Amino acid sequence: MKYIGYKKVEGIIEVVTGLHIGGSTAIIEIGGKDNPVIKHPVTREPYIPGSSLKGKMRSLLEWKHGLINSANPGSREFGEVHQCDRKDCPVCVVFGSSAEKSSSGPTRLIVRDAVICADYKEKQKEKDINWIPLDITEDKYENTINRITAKANPRNFERVVSGVEFSFEMIFRIFDMPANGKDGFDNGKQDEELFMEVLEGLRLVESDALGGAGSRGSGQVKFFVKLPDSDDNKTLDEITTETFNTIPTAKI
Ligand SMILES: [Zn+2]
Repeated sequence: MKYIGYKKVEGIIEVVTGLHIGGSTAIIEIGGKDNPVIKHPVTREPYIPGSSLKGKMRSLLEWKHGLINSANPGSREFGEVHQCDRKDCPVCVVFGSSAEKSSSGPTRLIVRDAVICADYKEKQKEKDINWIPLDITEDKYENTINRITAKANPRNFERVVSGVEFSFEMIFRIFDMPANGKDGFDNGKQDEELFMEVLEGLRLVESDALGGAGSRGSGQVKFFVKLPDSDDNKTLDEITTETFNTIPTAKI
């Protein structure tokens, strides 16, 4: 097995409906929020952790490939993260596996933390010179109503407001795997094919939600991906398997 190159996927994540990815409440601030979004500890700017995006892509792909154990409630595996040692498993190869006997090699996909896009910041400053990146969150209140007394039980959480744009970057690594091809290796063929799982993962997240309260309206996002030979970022609807495949493999 040999590391032969990587593909870089980059673009913008636009927040369509308020996004709540929970942060730490360990720092008690006066007037602080109960359920804050995660923020950079120094700049205090909200960001999207790579682990949140990667984890959501993985879980939706596990469902799509029918890899989630939902048959035996009470069993240890019930609903847990899928792990296996198949060396061509689309989930474990791309997203990683802790299976002890796995021969699939290192995790192929690296997802960076997504930070607020520089262009977005500039546009906001053009509109309002006093704008700062801390102005992009809102307090969302939700209620549960007692069915008999009609007493409301409100709770609140912080969300990044709609319209905010984050820059994202992913690295997909290509390994030369043992196979029956040339000299007993596949020259990266399997990984080149598994690269489409990244596109599918993005599509699934777009049709689902990121972060918390997704079933109650939060966390809808839209991806815009930079493709070679194009100045504009493309929406997922504009991208095909063929055009996604034009993202080149940088040799190492
Ligand atoms: Zn697997």
